[in-house]
Amino acid sequence: MPDQWIYLNGEFVTKENAKISVYDHGFLYGDGIFEGIRVYSGNIFRMEEHMDRLYRSAKSIMLNMPHSKEEFTDLVVETVERNQLRDAYIRIVVSRGVGDLGLDPYKCPNANVVIIVEPLAIFPKELYERGLEIVTVATRRNRPDVLSPKVKSLNYLNNVLVKIEAHLANVSEALMLNDQGYVAEGSADNIFIVRGSTFLTPPGYVGALEGITRNAVIEIAGKLGYEVKEEPFTRHDVYTADEVFLTGTAAEVIAVVKVDGRVIGNGVPGEHTKNILKEFRAKVVADGIQVYQEKAHQVS
Ligand code: PMP
Repeated sequence: MPDQWIYLNGEFVTKENAKISVYDHGFLYGDGIFEGIRVYSGNIFRMEEHMDRLYRSAKSIMLNMPHSKEEFTDLVVETVERNQLRDAYIRIVVSRGVGDLGLDPYKCPNANVVIIVEPLAIFPKELYERGLEIVTVATRRNRPDVLSPKVKSLNYLNNVLVKIEAHLANVSEALMLNDQGYVAEGSADNIFIVRGSTFLTPPGYVGALEGITRNAVIEIAGKLGYEVKEEPFTRHDVYTADEVFLTGTAAEVIAVVKVDGRVIGNGVPGEHTKNILKEFRAKVVADGIQVYQEKAHQVS
């Protein structure tokens, strides 16, 4: 791979030089926020929605962003350009910054800002054709009134615990329930179940992040004539659904064919999931902002 340029507090540095103090409160306390965004054929997918979510997260935890949304957008575009990638994953991290060993965020005068752009392949291509096997795990989604999942914060420990449980069960992804036993979401993706021609996905108050891929899928499903309901459901509803799929920036739209040993539908990705994936792939380029202006017409 040619040189990878990482944006770090006003400079572009190599991976080896992208270093942050051990007194950074993101490192010490998970005090910070992040975003994951995709670039498809030189188009950044739904940049505005990601920026809005980032700034809402910052507002909620009173983190002073050192740039306006417009400046931040330009920095992200510049980082993609510098790395000369047309299909990539962008990770933005904004931490509270360097302070002392105490918790007090008021002792951190400057946020640390990092933008990383990398090529990405989360699940192998065959898995999109075969579908995923997942399990539900003991780790519960944190309650929205304790730490709102709407804040995409650096507190991902329970999501990490979900990944550990998935590994122990020999599967690549797992489902979290909320404290009342309703299905919330995966470790880094939202869930949809399909019953007849109705799509169901858990509402935000159950403990799901309001994913940007989830929003895109809700729009696509509506346009294709499906009914979409945001309502709580249980594991039983997942086991007995006609189809199940997960959505996320990294995962895109991926069918689930087995949950806790129960085969979903016919055990292969269903027709409705495939319809959504097809439309989603068409939309990702159309809904993006172009990075490489002058060459964009040659790409898609
Ligand atoms: N839930 C969690 C916990 C996540 O981390 C993610 C990934 N951002 C999602 C859902 C999916 O959200 P999006 O479609 O915005 O990537």
